[in-house]
Amino acid sequence: VQEWERFTKDTPGSGEHNARASKSLPLGVTSSFQHWEPYPISITSARGAHLTDVDGRQLLDLSMGFGAMLVGHLNPVVVERVQHALAEVGTLFVTPSPTATRVAERYQERFGLDMLRFTQSGTESLMYAVRAARAYTERKAIIKIEGGYHGGYDALQVSVKPDLADAGPAEAPTPEVPFDVEAGTVHVVPYNDLPYLQRILEQHGRQVAAVVMEPVVENLAIVLPDEGYLAGVRAACDAAGTLLIFDEVKTGLTAGYGGASQRIGVKPDLVTLAKSIGGGLPLAAFGGTAEVMQVVVDGRMAHFGTYNGNPLVMAAAEAVDEVCTHEALQAAEDINLGTLGRIDDVIRELELPAHTVGMGLKGCVTWSSGPVRNYRDYKATDFGVAELSWLWGVNRGVLTPPGLDEQWLVSLAHTQADMDGLVEQYTELGRALR
Ligand code: PLP
Repeated sequence: VQEWERFTKDTPGSGEHNARASKSLPLGVTSSFQHWEPYPISITSARGAHLTDVDGRQLLDLSMGFGAMLVGHLNPVVVERVQHALAEVGTLFVTPSPTATRVAERYQERFGLDMLRFTQSGTESLMYAVRAARAYTERKAIIKIEGGYHGGYDALQVSVKPDLADAGPAEAPTPEVPFDVEAGTVHVVPYNDLPYLQRILEQHGRQVAAVVMEPVVENLAIVLPDEGYLAGVRAACDAAGTLLIFDEVKTGLTAGYGGASQRIGVKPDLVTLAKSIGGGLPLAAFGGTAEVMQVVVDGRMAHFGTYNGNPLVMAAAEAVDEVCTHEALQAAEDINLGTLGRIDDVIRELELPAHTVGMGLKGCVTWSSGPVRNYRDYKATDFGVAELSWLWGVNRGVLTPPGLDEQWLVSLAHTQADMDGLVEQYTELGRALR
């Protein structure tokens, strides 16, 4: 209660702004994920790893646009290229342009894709990836992970972070949901449970076009794959003639130079990318093997989009690609790993019921002593302390992601001193909790 009182006292401008915005925008925001009670903080500007809110407060940004701002706010290379595109190139031709081709060639090398297409959002990429899998296999059903989020596309709205009361029994989580006629059947499987997936594929595999999953689940804080799990998923898909789609919207470059698939060494048939590749501009992509992407070449599936591959966004993408070298990403990862280790020390010293989880440039504190391997484990973590931890930070100038399902990102703009601030925040909070 004290912390909420402090929050409302420190952020009157955000409260006023939300009241005004709520008259034109439902909840006063332009994406339901931007809303929280009593109101979200409204930001006027950002630079590097810092935000300024409407009350003039400076916040260390560890949310970084849900991980999209990997290169930092107003990254100078991105700014220079976008300015050049605006002043000298143009913003939209709806014809092929050399920048899009150059970026596509870079992604072939970086992400190990034979062919790809650009879109504007993760949602769109997931929609087209599922469509491509259906066109290729001539099957309709899909399999997704219990609790998993993949954007707003209808077919993937099944079992998106449900209340456990609605999730079905643990041994058979909502196994078959005929969501609607268009969406087709969606089977739900627990993450990290290979025998369960194998069983569903044995029973229904002939109807299943694709298994869709985040290789590392980054919509339930961070849930890592068990050793060998993803290789097992790959083999099970192959045995059933089912395609494997890795949703790398959140992992992508934040998991390393070639994304989580390359890092873990399991090759999906299709990959979706968004967020980190665009430097904050709306860029996403889907791509995969030449054999599967042939469905777009030969017309089994069409892919459209007025803004696809526009030269403005492509200029930003090219800058991000140049900036995200092995060395730059490794330096940020080293800072992240050091931070995770130091927060673990605090947890041990203060005997807190928590542990850290990290992947590449991302990290989180999970408020549970035991391992979190799937959605059910995740739902059993202490959300009360997680919320307090978030609020504690906001009140002290550190903005971790507002949704408790998110994780922090050490961007290329964060310094060791910035992350020292996060360690300090957890130390203070841990002492208060004790
Ligand atoms: N897939 C995953 C794993 C996501 O986390 C998100 C967004 O958070 C999406 C897809 C949808 O991306 P977008 O918001 O760009 O539509």
